[in-house]
Amino acid sequence: MMDTQLLSPSEIDKAAAIIKSGGLVGIPTETVYGLGANGLDSEAVRNIFRAKGRPQDNPLILHIPDAAWLDAFCEDIPQDAWRLAKRFWPGPLTMILRRKPVVPDVVTAGLDTVGVRCPAHSMCRAIIMEAGVPVAAPSGNRSGRPSPTTVQHMLEDMDGRIDAILDGGDCQVGVESTIVDMTCVPPRMLRPGGVPLEELQVVLKEVVLDSAITQPLKEGEQPRAPGMKYRHYAPKAPVTVVWGDPLRSAQYILDHAGDSYWEGIICFDEFAHWFEDHPVERLGGSLDCFEHARRLFRALRAMDENGVKHIWAQCPGTAGMGLAVVNRLTKASGFHVIEV
Ligand code: AMP
Ligand code: MG
Repeated sequence: MMDTQLLSPSEIDKAAAIIKSGGLVGIPTETVYGLGANGLDSEAVRNIFRAKGRPQDNPLILHIPDAAWLDAFCEDIPQDAWRLAKRFWPGPLTMILRRKPVVPDVVTAGLDTVGVRCPAHSMCRAIIMEAGVPVAAPSGNRSGRPSPTTVQHMLEDMDGRIDAILDGGDCQVGVESTIVDMTCVPPRMLRPGGVPLEELQVVLKEVVLDSAITQPLKEGEQPRAPGMKYRHYAPKAPVTVVWGDPLRSAQYILDHAGDSYWEGIICFDEFAHWFEDHPVERLGGSLDCFEHARRLFRALRAMDENGVKHIWAQCPGTAGMGLAVVNRLTKASGFHVIEV
């Protein structure tokens, strides 16, 4: 156990000093809280894996404050990558690019590619600028848990395990970055996230969706992104996702959840009053996908606190930000999805 300092928003210099000296800091970003270390310091990065309990073969993302830093860490950068950076950075987009040797193996899990992102949270960029090094970071949760979207969640998972957490308020996007592999033609989306597919398609002529986004990996299948093979985003209780028209999915849950207090419900605001006997977490209005993304991980964590034995979740469609929400919910359920 170590003492974890909770830093106030004015203590960016302290957070940067800890990063520079090889420590670990919980860092606010617009997507989710990250667990950051000096991305050029192998020993510091190794400690991220220890603190999270993350398997060593699941690579991290390198965070930079400006696209101008790309050339220092990546090579063979395609023109489309520069166009994406121009359109979406700073923002919730991670690009997989060929790495330069300066990027330590432990960051990329030995791959010859590296994930790079320029985050939009001003405090996060200020820390990186002040530290003067790229910050390697995965999401700040313990491995397998829902990602932290508030400083309280970050403390819940990492208090006593890292040097400090910088309080940057609640995360505005609420799900992780969209990951696009730019080393293949056409570019391939490995994870849906804060930048919707439809927006990528405005810049890229073609982008394919990796099958792992919507389906479980088959027996023996090698995942494109190493993280895909692990159980993810999961609360303690099993989750059943009910997919389809909101009125029908709410009705299905009402018919099947009974009135047990141990059955938790994650639903759209319109239906919350149907489930008064249950612990309920609202995702926002049924059409507001940005709000669903913002609230999803909070809802999953709240269910853990309620101690429910089973969770039923309404699920939006796959348009826009919906794709990221569907992906996180279906993964949290281990692809236990009922279509209505
Ligand atoms: P997290 O932010 O916790 O989701 O962790 C970073 C994610 O980026 C993981 O799911 C990784 O598998 C993915 N990632 C990082 N680098 C690469 C890479 N070079 N190729 C494919 N996926 C990557
Ligand atoms: Mg993660």
